[in-house]
Amino acid sequence: MPLLEQNYWLTTVGMPKTDTEAARPLPEKVDVAVIGAGFTGLSAARTLARRGAGVAVLEAETIGWGASSRNGGMVLTGLKLGVNKLISMYGRERTQRMYAASLATIDCVEKIVREEKIACDFSRSGHLEVACKKKHFDDYERQAEVIAREFNHKLRVVPRDKLRSEIGSTIYYGGMVDEVSAGLNPARYVAGLANAAIKAGAKVFESTWVGAIKRQAREGAPGWRLATSRGALWARDVFVGTSGYTGKVTPALQKKIIPIGSYIITTEILSKALARKVSPRNRMIYDSKNYLYYYRLTPDRRMLFGGRAAFFPETPDSIRKSAEILRRGMIEVYPQLRDTKVEYVWGGTLDFAFDIMPHAGQMDGIHFALGYAGHGVAMATYQGQKMAELILGDKPENPFVGIPFPGAPLGLYNGKPWFLPLAGAWYKFLDWVS
Ligand SMILES: Cc1cc2nc3c(=O)[nH]c(=O)nc-3n(C[C@H](O)[C@H](O)[C@H](O)COP(=O)(O)OP(=O)(O)OC[C@H]3O[C@@H](n4cnc5c(N)ncnc54)[C@H](O)[C@@H]3O)c2cc1C
Repeated sequence: MPLLEQNYWLTTVGMPKTDTEAARPLPEKVDVAVIGAGFTGLSAARTLARRGAGVAVLEAETIGWGASSRNGGMVLTGLKLGVNKLISMYGRERTQRMYAASLATIDCVEKIVREEKIACDFSRSGHLEVACKKKHFDDYERQAEVIAREFNHKLRVVPRDKLRSEIGSTIYYGGMVDEVSAGLNPARYVAGLANAAIKAGAKVFESTWVGAIKRQAREGAPGWRLATSRGALWARDVFVGTSGYTGKVTPALQKKIIPIGSYIITTEILSKALARKVSPRNRMIYDSKNYLYYYRLTPDRRMLFGGRAAFFPETPDSIRKSAEILRRGMIEVYPQLRDTKVEYVWGGTLDFAFDIMPHAGQMDGIHFALGYAGHGVAMATYQGQKMAELILGDKPENPFVGIPFPGAPLGLYNGKPWFLPLAGAWYKFLDWVS
């Protein structure tokens, strides 16, 4: 089979049909307008609709078109930043709540999958972080000790001579396992979330780009007028879940988020024996570099191998180049896959805040959640749910609301990431020296 520039996960699922009738009119008014039909928006829509709110989900493209159908399907504990860094930024008490929330995100996904009977191959297979340098491995010991002491959560450090039981690669200095993490098929999961939101009563509008949001009272009630490519609607509240695709309709948010490209290849189906050799415990695996690789077996036993092969958000050219860069990376890790064919390559856009933290809350009166930094499968689902509860008037525990949300140093960013080539070079340099 020739290499297809196409998202493999989308070949495994049919997305819900919401909008065959392109002219379907928008409702005149809703309680909540949700922008973006990914994990964040659909999880919020499901919670809101189940509690009786009138919800319209407005999606510029199609359900799951953004990162939510394109990712590695790793449902990961923890945050992108290490725990010592988190404690230095937020103190022990808030960091403890953040870490507890990161564990709760996995339970949140599992509960939804079970309640909604979503056939997305959810499995608590655990994750494995592998050390590219000896000093990275030495740091695992320290991290595991802090995490056990401060957060009462157990990670298992695997020395180099025992690593064979976890991974069929000899290039690493050791690893660290978290048994709580899980894997799933993200396209099936986002399709299932959409079905669940629709079943609960939310209306999903695809091909509906939101171009402007303005404050406008209606019948004495404060609210918002949204101008879309399908006409206008009024909403009492607006919730934005646009992640790495955040654009000029929410300029204040756009200036706080750096869109970064990430790319994935998947191989042909491996034999059972080869699959068992490369990943004996079927872990979700990523390495310790800044410019990292992440990889796993798909449920049908393909090697899925991803990384920031180019830093820019995806274009046909960057996707094509990534296929070869990632194949070389995969063979460095697994020389035994030298003759294995790569069948699919695709890319997507990640959302990084300047402090590499998730953020949620209200900005200029508009609710939002984003900044998942490659940890969004579980966190986006959780934030969608928590922010929906907040909009409904509950007081949910959410330690990511209200933390400082920094913009670019000296304000040198208007939403166009001119510095990404420099950032790419900088991270490669850091990987070389640290
Ligand atoms: C290649 C890749 C691999 C990844 N791997 C992992 C992983 O293994 N584990 C993990 O935890 N995370 C991973 N992530 C991150 C994770 O996929 C995201 O954090 C998560 O999907 C974000 O979901 P979301 O709903 O917030 O945004 P998205 O799924 O990106 O959805 C945002 C949507 O908003 C829509 N939109 C934007 N502007 C407008 C507008 N004006 N009007 C209407 N609609 C609009 C877009 O069309 C888009 O569909 C990965 C991401 C990528 C790109």
